[in-house]
Amino acid sequence: MSDEREGSGERASVPTGLAPSRIAASLLAVALATPAVSAAERLTVFTGETMGTTFTVKVVDLPRAVDRAGVAQAIETRLADVDGAMSTYREDSELSRFNRSRSTDWVAVSAPTVSVIEAALAVSRLTAGAFDVTVGPLVNLWGFGATPPGRGLPTEAEVRTAMARVGYRYLHTRRAPPGVRKERAELYVDLSAIAKGFAVDEVARALEARGIGRYLVEVGGELRAGGLNHDDRPWAVAIEQPRAEIRSLQRLVRLEDEAIATSGDYRRFIEVGGRRYSHTIDPRSGHPVDHRLASVAVIHASALQADALATALMVLGEQDGFALARREGIAALFLLRELDRFVELATPGFPLPGDVTVGNEME
Ligand code: AMP
Ligand code: MG
Repeated sequence: MSDEREGSGERASVPTGLAPSRIAASLLAVALATPAVSAAERLTVFTGETMGTTFTVKVVDLPRAVDRAGVAQAIETRLADVDGAMSTYREDSELSRFNRSRSTDWVAVSAPTVSVIEAALAVSRLTAGAFDVTVGPLVNLWGFGATPPGRGLPTEAEVRTAMARVGYRYLHTRRAPPGVRKERAELYVDLSAIAKGFAVDEVARALEARGIGRYLVEVGGELRAGGLNHDDRPWAVAIEQPRAEIRSLQRLVRLEDEAIATSGDYRRFIEVGGRRYSHTIDPRSGHPVDHRLASVAVIHASALQADALATALMVLGEQDGFALARREGIAALFLLRELDRFVELATPGFPLPGDVTVGNEME
Protein backbone atom coordinates (compact mmCIF):
# COMPACT_ATOMS: atom_id res chain seq x y z
CA MET A 1 0.00 0.00 0.00
CA SER A 2 1.30 3.44 -0.70
CA ASP A 3 0.45 7.08 -0.56
CA GLU A 4 -0.50 7.96 -4.10
CA ARG A 5 0.08 11.48 -5.36
CA GLU A 6 -2.69 12.31 -7.72
CA GLY A 7 -2.89 15.08 -10.22
CA SER A 8 -5.45 16.61 -7.95
CA GLY A 9 -4.18 20.17 -7.86
CA GLU A 10 -5.37 22.40 -10.67
CA ARG A 11 -2.59 22.91 -13.19
CA ALA A 12 -1.93 26.45 -14.37
CA SER A 13 -1.68 26.38 -18.15
CA VAL A 14 -1.02 29.27 -20.50
CA PRO A 15 -3.40 29.29 -23.46
CA THR A 16 -1.69 29.12 -26.84
CA GLY A 17 -2.24 31.49 -29.77
CA LEU A 18 -2.34 34.66 -27.71
CA ALA A 19 -0.49 37.89 -28.31
CA PRO A 20 2.68 38.32 -26.16
CA SER A 21 1.07 40.93 -23.95
CA ARG A 22 -1.89 38.64 -23.30
CA ILE A 23 0.50 35.80 -22.48
CA ALA A 24 2.37 38.02 -20.05
CA ALA A 25 -0.91 39.07 -18.48
CA SER A 26 -2.15 35.54 -18.10
CA LEU A 27 1.21 34.40 -16.70
CA LEU A 28 0.91 37.15 -14.15
CA ALA A 29 -2.60 36.06 -13.34
CA VAL A 30 -1.36 32.50 -12.86
CA ALA A 31 1.47 33.75 -10.67
CA LEU A 32 -0.93 35.75 -8.55
CA ALA A 33 -3.30 32.84 -8.28
CA THR A 34 -0.55 30.42 -7.23
CA PRO A 35 -0.23 30.15 -3.46
CA ALA A 36 3.07 31.30 -1.99
CA VAL A 37 3.86 27.72 -1.02
CA SER A 38 3.01 24.87 -3.40
CA ALA A 39 1.36 21.77 -2.00
CA ALA A 40 4.55 19.72 -2.30
CA GLU A 41 6.56 22.38 -0.48
CA ARG A 42 4.30 22.01 2.50
CA LEU A 43 5.60 18.50 3.06
CA THR A 44 8.55 17.42 5.14
CA VAL A 45 9.47 13.81 4.45
CA PHE A 46 11.44 11.44 6.65
CA THR A 47 12.50 8.03 5.33
CA GLY A 48 14.67 5.17 6.46
CA GLU A 49 14.87 1.50 7.25
CA THR A 50 13.50 -0.38 10.21
CA MET A 51 12.27 -3.85 11.16
CA GLY A 52 13.66 -5.36 7.98
CA THR A 53 11.63 -2.96 5.85
CA THR A 54 11.35 0.75 5.09
CA PHE A 55 9.42 3.61 6.58
CA THR A 56 8.19 6.94 5.27
CA VAL A 57 6.75 9.76 7.34
CA LYS A 58 5.22 12.83 5.71
CA VAL A 59 4.38 15.90 7.73
CA VAL A 60 2.32 18.83 6.45
CA ASP A 61 3.35 22.35 7.49
CA LEU A 62 5.96 21.39 10.03
CA PRO A 63 5.74 24.26 12.52
CA ARG A 64 8.77 26.57 12.47
CA ALA A 65 9.21 26.07 16.17
CA VAL A 66 9.61 22.33 15.71
CA ASP A 67 13.15 21.19 14.99
CA ARG A 68 13.32 18.91 11.95
CA ALA A 69 16.29 16.95 13.25
CA GLY A 70 14.50 16.47 16.55
CA VAL A 71 11.46 14.99 14.78
CA ALA A 72 13.73 12.69 12.74
CA GLN A 73 15.40 11.57 15.94
CA ALA A 74 12.08 10.93 17.68
CA ILE A 75 10.85 8.82 14.76
CA GLU A 76 14.05 6.75 14.64
CA THR A 77 14.03 6.26 18.41
CA ARG A 78 10.43 5.03 18.49
CA LEU A 79 11.06 2.60 15.65
CA ALA A 80 14.31 1.34 17.17
CA ASP A 81 12.52 0.81 20.48
CA VAL A 82 9.80 -1.31 18.89
CA ASP A 83 12.35 -3.32 16.93
CA GLY A 84 14.59 -3.74 19.97
CA ALA A 85 11.69 -5.04 22.04
CA MET A 86 9.54 -7.07 19.64
CA SER A 87 11.71 -8.38 16.81
CA THR A 88 12.22 -12.12 16.44
CA TYR A 89 15.07 -11.34 14.03
CA ARG A 90 17.19 -9.67 16.70
CA GLU A 91 18.71 -12.06 19.19
CA ASP A 92 18.96 -9.31 21.79
CA SER A 93 15.29 -8.24 21.64
CA GLU A 94 13.05 -8.74 24.66
CA LEU A 95 10.95 -11.12 22.65
CA SER A 96 13.91 -13.24 21.52
CA ARG A 97 15.10 -13.52 25.10
CA PHE A 98 11.64 -14.64 26.15
CA ASN A 99 11.43 -17.11 23.28
CA ARG A 100 14.83 -18.61 24.17
CA SER A 101 13.97 -18.86 27.84
CA ARG A 102 12.88 -22.28 29.05
CA SER A 103 11.43 -20.84 32.23
CA THR A 104 7.71 -21.07 32.92
CA ASP A 105 8.00 -18.22 35.44
CA TRP A 106 7.30 -14.54 34.79
CA VAL A 107 9.86 -12.86 32.56
CA ALA A 108 10.19 -9.07 32.80
CA VAL A 109 9.51 -7.19 29.56
CA SER A 110 8.65 -3.56 28.86
CA ALA A 111 5.09 -2.26 29.21
CA PRO A 112 4.66 -1.70 25.43
CA THR A 113 5.58 -5.34 24.76
CA VAL A 114 2.94 -6.44 27.26
CA SER A 115 0.30 -4.25 25.64
CA VAL A 116 1.09 -5.50 22.13
CA ILE A 117 0.99 -9.13 23.31
CA GLU A 118 -2.32 -8.45 25.07
CA ALA A 119 -3.76 -6.98 21.87
CA ALA A 120 -2.49 -9.98 19.91
CA LEU A 121 -4.01 -12.36 22.46
CA ALA A 122 -7.35 -10.57 22.16
CA VAL A 123 -7.33 -11.09 18.38
CA SER A 124 -6.25 -14.71 18.95
CA ARG A 125 -9.31 -15.19 21.16
CA LEU A 126 -11.61 -13.29 18.80
CA THR A 127 -10.65 -15.66 15.99
CA ALA A 128 -10.50 -18.80 18.16
CA GLY A 129 -6.86 -19.25 17.25
CA ALA A 130 -6.94 -18.59 13.50
CA PHE A 131 -4.72 -15.67 14.42
CA ASP A 132 -2.29 -17.06 16.97
CA VAL A 133 0.49 -14.99 18.49
CA THR A 134 2.39 -18.25 19.26
CA VAL A 135 2.36 -19.45 15.63
CA GLY A 136 6.16 -18.90 15.48
CA PRO A 137 7.27 -22.56 15.31
CA LEU A 138 5.09 -23.06 12.20
CA VAL A 139 6.25 -19.80 10.63
CA ASN A 140 9.85 -20.87 11.15
CA LEU A 141 9.18 -24.40 9.90
CA TRP A 142 7.75 -23.10 6.64
CA GLY A 143 10.77 -20.86 6.17
CA PHE A 144 9.24 -17.46 6.91
CA GLY A 145 10.78 -16.80 10.28
CA ALA A 146 14.07 -15.72 11.72
CA THR A 147 15.50 -19.23 11.90
CA PRO A 148 16.98 -20.63 8.66
CA PRO A 149 14.46 -22.83 6.83
CA GLY A 150 15.09 -26.48 6.12
CA ARG A 151 15.41 -27.64 2.55
CA GLY A 152 12.16 -28.20 0.64
CA LEU A 153 8.79 -28.51 2.28
CA PRO A 154 8.37 -29.79 5.82
CA THR A 155 7.09 -33.30 6.37
CA GLU A 156 3.70 -33.90 7.98
CA ALA A 157 5.49 -35.22 11.07
CA GLU A 158 7.40 -31.94 11.35
CA VAL A 159 4.18 -29.99 10.90
CA ARG A 160 2.53 -31.96 13.71
CA THR A 161 5.52 -31.42 16.02
CA ALA A 162 5.45 -27.66 15.38
CA MET A 163 1.65 -27.54 15.83
CA ALA A 164 2.03 -29.11 19.26
CA ARG A 165 4.16 -26.12 20.26
CA VAL A 166 1.50 -23.58 19.26
CA GLY A 167 -1.18 -22.36 21.63
CA TYR A 168 -1.98 -18.80 22.67
CA ARG A 169 -3.84 -20.13 25.73
CA TYR A 170 -0.48 -21.03 27.27
CA LEU A 171 0.75 -17.44 27.14
CA HIS A 172 0.00 -15.00 29.97
CA THR A 173 0.67 -11.34 30.61
CA ARG A 174 0.71 -9.05 33.61
CA ARG A 175 0.99 -5.30 33.78
CA ALA A 176 2.56 -4.59 37.16
CA PRO A 177 5.39 -5.22 37.00
CA PRO A 178 5.16 -5.77 33.25
CA GLY A 179 5.91 -9.36 32.36
CA VAL A 180 5.02 -12.41 30.30
CA ARG A 181 4.86 -16.04 31.23
CA LYS A 182 4.53 -19.25 29.25
CA GLU A 183 2.93 -22.34 30.65
CA ARG A 184 4.90 -24.45 28.21
CA ALA A 185 8.64 -23.94 27.92
CA GLU A 186 8.69 -24.46 24.14
CA LEU A 187 6.21 -21.65 23.33
CA TYR A 188 7.50 -19.12 20.77
CA VAL A 189 5.86 -15.73 20.29
CA ASP A 190 5.76 -14.07 16.86
CA LEU A 191 4.59 -10.44 16.70
CA SER A 192 5.33 -9.94 13.00
CA ALA A 193 1.63 -9.66 12.17
CA ILE A 194 1.05 -6.77 14.56
CA ALA A 195 4.33 -5.01 15.45
CA LYS A 196 4.54 -2.89 12.31
CA GLY A 197 1.08 -1.51 13.01
CA PHE A 198 2.10 -0.75 16.57
CA ALA A 199 5.24 1.00 15.29
CA VAL A 200 3.05 3.18 13.05
CA ASP A 201 0.90 4.14 16.05
CA GLU A 202 3.99 4.91 18.12
CA VAL A 203 5.41 7.24 15.48
CA ALA A 204 2.01 8.95 15.13
CA ARG A 205 1.92 9.47 18.90
CA ALA A 206 5.43 10.93 18.84
CA LEU A 207 4.36 13.40 16.15
CA GLU A 208 1.19 14.36 17.97
CA ALA A 209 3.17 14.93 21.16
CA ARG A 210 5.06 17.60 19.20
CA GLY A 211 1.87 19.30 18.07
CA ILE A 212 1.95 17.69 14.62
CA GLY A 213 -1.54 16.61 13.59
CA ARG A 214 -1.23 16.38 9.81
CA TYR A 215 0.90 13.44 8.76
CA LEU A 216 1.08 10.15 6.95
CA VAL A 217 3.10 7.44 8.67
CA GLU A 218 3.98 4.28 6.80
CA VAL A 219 6.02 1.31 8.03
CA GLY A 220 6.36 -1.66 5.68
CA GLY A 221 3.07 -0.89 3.94
CA GLU A 222 0.94 -0.27 7.05
CA LEU A 223 -0.22 3.35 7.23
CA ARG A 224 -1.86 5.90 9.46
CA ALA A 225 -3.14 9.26 8.28
CA GLY A 226 -3.44 12.23 10.61
CA GLY A 227 -5.61 15.20 9.60
CA LEU A 228 -5.63 16.43 6.02
CA ASN A 229 -2.88 16.16 3.42
CA HIS A 230 -0.90 18.93 1.75
CA ASP A 231 -3.80 19.53 -0.68
CA ASP A 232 -6.13 20.02 2.30
CA ARG A 233 -7.93 16.78 1.46
CA PRO A 234 -8.00 13.43 3.23
CA TRP A 235 -4.86 11.45 2.39
CA ALA A 236 -5.10 9.28 -0.72
CA VAL A 237 -3.81 5.77 -0.13
CA ALA A 238 -3.44 3.16 -2.82
CA ILE A 239 -4.55 -0.41 -2.30
CA GLU A 240 -2.45 -2.51 -4.62
CA GLN A 241 -3.61 -5.36 -6.74
CA PRO A 242 -2.39 -8.50 -5.05
CA ARG A 243 0.02 -9.54 -7.80
CA ALA A 244 3.59 -10.60 -7.21
CA GLU A 245 4.92 -9.65 -10.65
CA ILE A 246 3.76 -6.08 -11.02
CA ARG A 247 2.64 -3.22 -8.85
CA SER A 248 -0.71 -1.93 -9.97
CA LEU A 249 -3.50 -0.06 -8.34
CA GLN A 250 -6.73 -1.70 -7.29
CA ARG A 251 -8.29 1.12 -5.30
CA LEU A 252 -7.63 4.54 -3.93
CA VAL A 253 -9.11 5.26 -0.52
CA ARG A 254 -9.13 8.55 1.32
CA LEU A 255 -8.22 8.54 4.99
CA GLU A 256 -8.31 11.13 7.73
CA ASP A 257 -7.34 10.18 11.29
CA GLU A 258 -7.45 6.49 10.41
CA ALA A 259 -5.06 3.65 9.70
CA ILE A 260 -5.05 0.98 7.02
CA ALA A 261 -3.19 -2.33 6.92
CA THR A 262 -3.05 -5.05 4.31
CA SER A 263 -2.28 -8.74 4.47
CA GLY A 264 -1.76 -10.84 1.42
CA ASP A 265 -0.20 -13.89 -0.08
CA TYR A 266 1.44 -12.04 -2.95
CA ARG A 267 4.57 -10.38 -1.54
CA ARG A 268 6.04 -12.97 0.76
CA PHE A 269 5.81 -16.57 -0.33
CA ILE A 270 8.01 -19.52 -1.17
CA GLU A 271 7.77 -21.40 -4.43
CA VAL A 272 8.37 -25.15 -4.42
CA GLY A 273 7.62 -27.38 -7.38
CA GLY A 274 5.81 -24.55 -9.15
CA ARG A 275 3.47 -23.99 -6.20
CA ARG A 276 3.37 -20.92 -4.04
CA TYR A 277 3.16 -21.12 -0.28
CA SER A 278 1.97 -18.06 1.59
CA HIS A 279 3.66 -16.65 4.71
CA THR A 280 0.24 -16.57 6.37
CA ILE A 281 -0.07 -19.84 8.24
CA ASP A 282 -3.30 -21.40 9.45
CA PRO A 283 -2.39 -22.70 12.92
CA ARG A 284 -5.37 -25.04 12.81
CA SER A 285 -3.99 -26.99 9.86
CA GLY A 286 -0.31 -26.18 10.34
CA HIS A 287 -0.13 -25.20 6.67
CA PRO A 288 0.07 -21.94 4.75
CA VAL A 289 -3.35 -20.67 3.78
CA ASP A 290 -4.39 -21.82 0.36
CA HIS A 291 -7.54 -20.14 -0.86
CA ARG A 292 -8.69 -17.65 -3.45
CA LEU A 293 -8.58 -14.78 -0.96
CA ALA A 294 -5.53 -12.88 -2.19
CA SER A 295 -5.50 -9.94 0.20
CA VAL A 296 -7.42 -8.18 2.95
CA ALA A 297 -7.22 -4.47 3.77
CA VAL A 298 -8.58 -3.22 7.09
CA ILE A 299 -9.27 0.38 8.10
CA HIS A 300 -9.26 1.12 11.81
CA ALA A 301 -8.51 4.02 14.14
CA SER A 302 -5.52 2.03 15.41
CA ALA A 303 -2.81 0.79 13.05
CA LEU A 304 -2.03 -2.01 15.49
CA GLN A 305 -5.63 -3.26 15.31
CA ALA A 306 -5.76 -2.86 11.53
CA ASP A 307 -2.53 -4.87 11.17
CA ALA A 308 -3.59 -7.75 13.42
CA LEU A 309 -7.13 -7.89 12.02
CA ALA A 310 -5.94 -7.90 8.40
CA THR A 311 -3.75 -10.93 9.12
CA ALA A 312 -6.54 -12.60 11.11
CA LEU A 313 -9.08 -12.16 8.29
CA MET A 314 -6.51 -13.42 5.80
CA VAL A 315 -6.19 -16.65 7.79
CA LEU A 316 -9.95 -17.03 8.23
CA GLY A 317 -10.56 -16.62 4.51
CA GLU A 318 -13.41 -15.49 2.36
CA GLN A 319 -16.36 -16.94 4.24
CA ASP A 320 -15.43 -17.05 7.92
CA GLY A 321 -13.32 -13.90 7.66
CA PHE A 322 -16.02 -11.91 5.94
CA ALA A 323 -18.66 -13.11 8.39
CA LEU A 324 -16.47 -12.13 11.35
CA ALA A 325 -15.67 -8.71 9.84
CA ARG A 326 -19.37 -8.01 9.34
CA ARG A 327 -20.31 -9.24 12.80
CA GLU A 328 -17.60 -7.17 14.49
CA GLY A 329 -18.17 -4.07 12.37
CA ILE A 330 -14.65 -4.22 10.91
CA ALA A 331 -14.08 -2.07 7.81
CA ALA A 332 -12.47 -4.56 5.45
CA LEU A 333 -11.91 -5.05 1.74
CA PHE A 334 -11.36 -8.63 0.56
CA LEU A 335 -9.80 -9.20 -2.86
CA LEU A 336 -10.65 -12.58 -4.29
CA ARG A 337 -8.64 -14.08 -7.13
CA GLU A 338 -10.83 -15.00 -10.06
CA LEU A 339 -9.15 -16.08 -13.29
CA ASP A 340 -7.11 -13.02 -14.27
CA ARG A 341 -8.91 -10.44 -12.18
CA PHE A 342 -9.84 -9.62 -8.60
CA VAL A 343 -13.33 -9.54 -7.19
CA GLU A 344 -13.90 -7.03 -4.41
CA LEU A 345 -15.90 -7.87 -1.35
CA ALA A 346 -16.28 -4.98 1.10
CA THR A 347 -17.96 -4.80 4.48
CA PRO A 348 -20.36 -1.87 4.87
CA GLY A 349 -17.83 0.20 6.81
CA PHE A 350 -15.22 0.16 4.06
CA PRO A 351 -15.34 3.35 2.01
CA LEU A 352 -15.58 2.39 -1.63
CA PRO A 353 -16.62 5.09 -4.02
CA GLY A 354 -18.54 4.14 -7.14
CA ASP A 355 -20.52 1.15 -8.12
CA VAL A 356 -18.89 -1.62 -6.19
CA THR A 357 -21.10 -4.31 -4.76
CA VAL A 358 -21.07 -4.19 -1.02
CA GLY A 359 -21.05 -7.86 -0.40
CA ASN A 360 -23.74 -9.66 1.43
CA GLU A 361 -23.31 -12.86 -0.54
CA MET A 362 -21.92 -14.56 2.51
CA GLU A 363 -25.08 -14.33 4.55
P1 AMP B 1 1.15 -9.61 8.03
O1 AMP B 1 2.03 -9.25 6.89
O2 AMP B 1 0.85 -8.49 8.96
O3 AMP B 1 -0.10 -10.32 7.61
O4 AMP B 1 1.96 -10.63 8.95
C1 AMP B 1 2.45 -11.82 8.42
C2 AMP B 1 3.36 -12.46 9.42
O5 AMP B 1 2.58 -12.85 10.56
C3 AMP B 1 4.00 -13.75 8.93
O6 AMP B 1 5.22 -13.49 8.28
C4 AMP B 1 4.21 -14.49 10.24
O7 AMP B 1 5.40 -14.06 10.89
C5 AMP B 1 3.02 -14.07 11.07
N1 AMP B 1 1.88 -15.01 10.95
C6 AMP B 1 1.64 -15.93 9.99
N2 AMP B 1 0.51 -16.60 10.23
C7 AMP B 1 0.00 -16.08 11.39
C8 AMP B 1 -1.15 -16.38 12.18
N3 AMP B 1 -2.01 -17.32 11.83
N4 AMP B 1 -1.33 -15.65 13.31
C9 AMP B 1 -0.46 -14.68 13.68
N5 AMP B 1 0.64 -14.37 13.00
C10 AMP B 1 0.87 -15.05 11.84
MG1 MG C 1 -0.80 -7.89 9.98
